[in-house]
Amino acid sequence: MRLVLLGPPGAGKGTQAALLSDSLKIPHISTGDLFRANISNGTDLGKQAQEYMDAGNLVPTEVTAKMVQDRLNQDDAQEGFLLDGFPRTIEQAELLEEMLKKDGHSLDAVVNYVVSEDVVVERMLARGRNDDNEDTIRTRLEVYRDETAPLIDHYQDILVNIDAEGTVEDISTTTLDALDN
Ligand code: ADP
Repeated sequence: MRLVLLGPPGAGKGTQAALLSDSLKIPHISTGDLFRANISNGTDLGKQAQEYMDAGNLVPTEVTAKMVQDRLNQDDAQEGFLLDGFPRTIEQAELLEEMLKKDGHSLDAVVNYVVSEDVVVERMLARGRNDDNEDTIRTRLEVYRDETAPLIDHYQDILVNIDAEGTVEDISTTTLDALDN
């Protein structure tokens, strides 16, 4: 199964992705995790990404898309994957479509985690990651509203909306049930 997870920052995509990845036996590909790994390893890619991430802005698409393309080319992603954090713009969605089309593939579903802004701010402040201070959170929510939310419309034909304000287990079960149908 080829899946994309959508939702505002702090929606719990990473938590859900780990569970879904186990159940569905497909790799969890998180652009945020890939960038953070590159930053801790001091790679050029990490250096290119860091200033954008610290400010809550998007890393330029040419940098991000190449990283995703390389990851999708790896063996474990040939039968399916769970993309978390990509695409984040319509432009990235179009690039992803091209990457998949080259191999005759397409997305099976886009899971959209629906959660209020109050709840996501609360969750991010509790999580306390490097880029989880109030200014950065505000910027990331703005970027989400302006750049990423339009993907909900873009993917309306394969969109699966999931209420993401319940318990971790309930949300995971609801997601798996919805994907079954
Ligand atoms: P969250 O889900 O809380 O927004 P992520 O771990 O997905 O956090 O992303 C953290 C940061 O990594 C983003 O704020 C952005 O700077 C960068 N990033 C991740 N994915 C992308 C992407 N597809 N395009 C551009 N930048 C990205």
